[in-house]
Amino acid sequence: MADERGYAAERLAAVCRHLEEIRRDLRSVTAGDDSPVERVLAAVRDGDDVADALDGLHAVLQVGGDPWGLDGYADDGSGLRGMRPEGIRRPSPGEHVYLCPGGRCTRSWWPRRATEPVPECRMSGVALRRKRL
Ligand SMILES: [Zn+2]
Repeated sequence: MADERGYAAERLAAVCRHLEEIRRDLRSVTAGDDSPVERVLAAVRDGDDVADALDGLHAVLQVGGDPWGLDGYADDGSGLRGMRPEGIRRPSPGEHVYLCPGGRCTRSWWPRRATEPVPECRMSGVALRRKRL
């Protein structure tokens, strides 16, 4: 089921990038219980299928009053919170792009300035890996 896998990878990218934000939002709707996000992290750590854990987290966020749930954190322009500011160009062939170190999610990043530090995967604490386009 390649489609379902891709969908999970996109949701995982939200966690990879916005873990702290998601955890904070989650706690505010569950009276401090962050077990739904911990289940996602455990599945990633153990190499298990993360789709179920992601669905669970997504559902809890929705029940908490956020109709977008996990998808609201997406960075591809479809997410409300992650809306890309105007004027940011995408990298062209030959340039470098940075990807999730574990290769488990669809997150990508590229520096806007040469001095910009490379961010890390929030799930593993490992810096994103460089890839030439
Ligand atoms: Zn990642």
